[in-house]
Amino acid sequence: MAEKTFKYVILGGGVAAGYAAREFAKQGVRPGELAIISKEAVAPYERPALSKAYLFPEGTARLPGFHVCVGSGGERLLPEWYKEKGIELILSTEIVKADLASKTLVSAAGEVFKYHILIVATGSTVFRLTDFGVQGADSKNILYLREIDDADKLVEAIKAKKNGKAVIVGGGYIGLELSAALRINNFDVTMVFPEPWCMPRLFTADIAAFYESYYTDKGIKIIKGTVAVGFAADANGEVKEVKLKDGRSLEADLVVVGVGGKPLTTLFKGQVEEEKGGIKTDAFFKTSVPDVYAVGDVVTFPLKMYNDLTRVEHVDHARKSAEQAVKAIFASEQGKAVEEYDYLPYCLSRAFDLSWQLYGDNVGDTVIFGDNNLTSAKPKFGSYWIKDGKIVGAFLEGGSPDENKAIAKVAKTQPSVNNVEVLTKEGLSFACKI
Ligand SMILES: Cc1cc2nc3c(=O)[nH]c(=O)nc-3n(C[C@H](O)[C@H](O)[C@H](O)COP(=O)(O)OP(=O)(O)OC[C@H]3O[C@@H](n4cnc5c(N)ncnc54)[C@H](O)[C@@H]3O)c2cc1C
Repeated sequence: MAEKTFKYVILGGGVAAGYAAREFAKQGVRPGELAIISKEAVAPYERPALSKAYLFPEGTARLPGFHVCVGSGGERLLPEWYKEKGIELILSTEIVKADLASKTLVSAAGEVFKYHILIVATGSTVFRLTDFGVQGADSKNILYLREIDDADKLVEAIKAKKNGKAVIVGGGYIGLELSAALRINNFDVTMVFPEPWCMPRLFTADIAAFYESYYTDKGIKIIKGTVAVGFAADANGEVKEVKLKDGRSLEADLVVVGVGGKPLTTLFKGQVEEEKGGIKTDAFFKTSVPDVYAVGDVVTFPLKMYNDLTRVEHVDHARKSAEQAVKAIFASEQGKAVEEYDYLPYCLSRAFDLSWQLYGDNVGDTVIFGDNNLTSAKPKFGSYWIKDGKIVGAFLEGGSPDENKAIAKVAKTQPSVNNVEVLTKEGLSFACKI
C-alpha cells in the first residue's frame, strides 16, 4: 500500500481540526505540509448545528452552509479553501492503528501515513444502549447523534415517521435540543431521564425548573427519576415501545438516545499519558510523547484559573485549544514561546426561542436573578455561583451579546460579594458595571 508522509498531520476532521487548519494557514504553512485525516466524508463543520438548524423543517441548515469557521463569525472554509492552501483533506478514512514510536498511522483500507508532528483531534463518541446490553436496543429507529451521517439518519426517520411519537432518552444537551427539534417537527415528544431535573451537571434546580416548564408548555412530556430498560419492535424490527424501569411503557415511532459520551483515545492506549479519561497535555496541548499534540474533546489540560486538570466537551474549547496548539508548534519551531492557555470555561445552547450561556465554574452557593416568568414576552434571567465570597460562575438566559460579555467578565475576574441580597437585586446590572 502507498505510504504518504506529511510534516504535520491532524487526525480527526471535526471542529478542532478545522480551526487548527485556519491557524496553520495564518502561520504560513506551505503547500503539501499539512494533511487532515477524517473518518467523515465532509470537510470540517460546526458540529453544534447538527442538533439545531440541521433538523428544522424550515430555515434548515445544510452543508456547505455551516463549514468551520462560521460558528464564531469567521471565514467559511469550503473544500476549495483547503485545496488553495495546499492542505490535503483525506476524507472517509478511518485510522485504525497509530504507532507513536514510529510516527505511523494506518487506515482501515491499509494506507500508511507518516508524520513529523501529529495533532490528535479525534473528539468523542456516544454511549450506545447496546453497549450496556439493553434489551431491544438494536431495533430500527433508535438513533444517536454525533456525526453528520447520524443527523442524516435522523432527518430520514423524521420524514418517514411524520407527526409520530418520539421518546428522547436523556436529559442533557442532546436530550433538550433534540426534544425541541422533534417538537418543532410536530412530533409528540416525551423526554425520559433518571435525574431529578434536566441538565443536572450544569443547571441548578431553579434554572432547570424554568426550562422544564417552558418545554411542558410546548407540549413536551417530561418523565424524571427513571430509565429506559428495554424496547419492543414491530414485525419490521422498528421500535414501537420503550419500557421504563418504573414499570411504565411509552409508545414510540422514533427514539433518540443522548446519554453522554467518551473521548476517543483507544488508538493511543498505553502509548501516551492519560488523565481523567482524556489524553493529558500541558498548557500548549503537548502530550507526554514528543511531537504529539492533542486538542478538543479528547484532552485533559491544565485549567490555569482553577489550578486544576480538566476535560471540556464544548465547541469553544475545541476552537481555542486547536489555535493554541498550532501557535505553540510554530513558535517552538522558531525558538519562541507562546503564553500558557488560560481558558475560561464557557458553554451555550439554543432551543426554541431560548438561548443561554454559562461561564466559569458552577460550584458553591447560587443566587438567581431577573425575569424567569414564562408568560413574559422575552424572559431574561440568570444565576451567579458564589464560592469563598467570590463569584466564580455566571449563567444568563436571553442575554444580548454585550450582556453575555459582561457575565463572562464577572466569571473571569471573580469579584467579591459583600451582600447577597444586594447582588440578587442588582442581578445583571451588577455584571454590566464591572
Ligand atoms: C449534536 C451535537 C451538538 C452540540 N452542540 C453544542 C453546543 O451547542 N455548544 C457547545 O459548546 N458544544 C456543543 N457540542 C459539542 C462540540 O460539538 C464538541 O465539543 C466539538 O465538536 C469537539 O470538537 P473536536 O474537534 O474535539 O471533535 P469532533 O468535532 O467530534 O471531531 C472529531 C473528528 O475526528 C474524527 N475521527 C475520530 N476518530 C477517528 C479515526 N480513528 N480516524 C479518522 N477520523 C477520526 C471524527 O469522525 C470527527 O470528524 C455538540 C456536539 C454534538 C455532537
